[in-house]
Amino acid sequence: MGLAGIPLGLEFTFLDPSPDACAGAVGTLVQADFSDSEAFSRLAGSVDIATFDFENVPESSARALQELKPVYPSPQALGACQDRLHEKNLLSSLEISVPAYYPVSSRTDFLTGLDKFTYPAVLKTRRLGYDGKGQAIIRDQEDLERAWQKLGDFDLILETFVPFEQECSLIGARGIDGETRFWSLTRNLHVDGILALSLAGGFDDALQAAAEKIMRRLLEHFDYVGVLTLEFFVLDGQLLVNEIAPRVHNSGHWTIDGAQTSQFENHLRAITGVPLGNTTKKCEALMFNWIGELPERDRLLGIPGVHWHDYGKEARPGRKIGHATLTADTPSELAVNARLAAEAAEGKFPVLLNSIF
Ligand code: AMP
Repeated sequence: MGLAGIPLGLEFTFLDPSPDACAGAVGTLVQADFSDSEAFSRLAGSVDIATFDFENVPESSARALQELKPVYPSPQALGACQDRLHEKNLLSSLEISVPAYYPVSSRTDFLTGLDKFTYPAVLKTRRLGYDGKGQAIIRDQEDLERAWQKLGDFDLILETFVPFEQECSLIGARGIDGETRFWSLTRNLHVDGILALSLAGGFDDALQAAAEKIMRRLLEHFDYVGVLTLEFFVLDGQLLVNEIAPRVHNSGHWTIDGAQTSQFENHLRAITGVPLGNTTKKCEALMFNWIGELPERDRLLGIPGVHWHDYGKEARPGRKIGHATLTADTPSELAVNARLAAEAAEGKFPVLLNSIF
């Protein structure tokens, strides 16, 4: 986001708990915990507007900051997405389809919920879960006990396991004046609950329109300002919302290289009150996520259309430390170069590509 803001003439102060947060390369870094109220006051003193790209910033910190400076998206929108139960209740109240769910705050609730759904089901923590963390799939009695031992101490939600045809996400931006733009639906492939590959577009107009209609309802509900993401399951050709992310999103990283305006630039345009940029796809685009380790950069860069993004983060298993976007003029060129890139990246990528091309 910082990289997108510099050409717009913006300057940044970043607050991050990590002393070596990569954003420090493009602005001033305040190293502090997200609940450090004194650090938030200091931050407020040095900025005109505040935003976030991580949805587990405590709502209370965002509200305290809002007393001092405008915060976009609103702390209310942030808070609504931090609890999976509140999120699903909100979506249901807006008549937006979600997987069947059941709140679980005791073992009795858990067993009652399982009686309502057939196996498999998914048990999730209501708060602080992402990338498949704080989740367990329950296929049989043994899984049930294991899931309860792992998660039983938390506030939980039980969901039916959705036998989806595909997963996709829609990213949209809404300006302070209500102007709204959407990027193309993006197809997402996960491994162990973590996003591994995203393919921009390829969905029919009716599904794109249906996704936009759902997002508009939420944008208006929150009087939202900034970029919003919806993650969907596609089941029988219909959309079910899995999650709302009140921020720029990993599945939108292709927009840096593949869209007229990236999600980061439009987020900044939205919150600073300038007109939004065109969100049209300017080429075919596919993103490979680098999780836990970076593949050999120079080998990848030898493939036409590869754009490299190293976040400068310490490598750790399961951690997203970079991505590459592959761009191409035609779908067939994308498919050919994607194979080359997948082979160069090794691991799970060649197999994953089989379900796309
Ligand atoms: P989440 O953290 O809820 O986005 O879940 C991470 C990934 O786990 C999703 O992108 C899906 O691939 C899978 N998943 C989560 N919930 C369900 C569900 N109810 N049914 C099927 N797959 C799920």
